[in-house]
Amino acid sequence: MSLRRLKATHFYEGVAAMFLVGALWWIPHSGYVAPVHVAAAVVVIVDPGHGGQDPGAVGVNGMFEKHINLSVAHALQHALASQGIVVYLTRTADYSVNRVAPYSVRNDLLARSRLVRKYHAAIFITIHSNAEPTHTMRGPIVYYDRDSLSSVRLADRVAHALNAALGYARPPRPIQQLVLEEAGVPAINVEVGFVSHRGDSAMLTSPQYQETLAKAIASGILQYLNQGMK
Ligand SMILES: [Zn+2]
Repeated sequence: MSLRRLKATHFYEGVAAMFLVGALWWIPHSGYVAPVHVAAAVVVIVDPGHGGQDPGAVGVNGMFEKHINLSVAHALQHALASQGIVVYLTRTADYSVNRVAPYSVRNDLLARSRLVRKYHAAIFITIHSNAEPTHTMRGPIVYYDRDSLSSVRLADRVAHALNAALGYARPPRPIQQLVLEEAGVPAINVEVGFVSHRGDSAMLTSPQYQETLAKAIASGILQYLNQGMK
């Protein structure tokens, strides 16, 4: 159930209760007390890409993408939780998310998307690290589910925050990716940098840089949420 639907349901319940009270006890000027409105916390799924037998990209010095993704995801969880957002990680250590044999990348991705329904999440963020053969590209790139307008808006806010924090001018890009398509909510893939680039790979292993990335991503998510998740 969406947050908007939840609020609407509470509103109509409140109205119905008001009429019921009036019908049973017709007491003019009785001082009707409005129902207490408790806002539900926003839930975000943060998905550290790869894990277990799937290392993801292999960077300079043999570093594995899956480890960078997990560290940044933990930092993002911390940054969002400090703003009152409830965060579930799809994995909290080095393992495959889909535990049912036989292993397949497809089943592993579907297991990640399924957690959106399980936890009634409003947003899905998958964290990855890039690699390319020329070893020259660096910096983050935000991808969005190309069929979802709200994913474009979310990606726009997150890309803007990352560009501002790190000095890039890189617009978000559309992508067709199973894990984003199956999420069913605004969904983006944040490629936090290039493990194939010597400078990037050194920064990506630094807890301070991971925190800078996480705070920028969290700031973009909060800006999107404050716009009303349109
Ligand atoms: Zn990846």
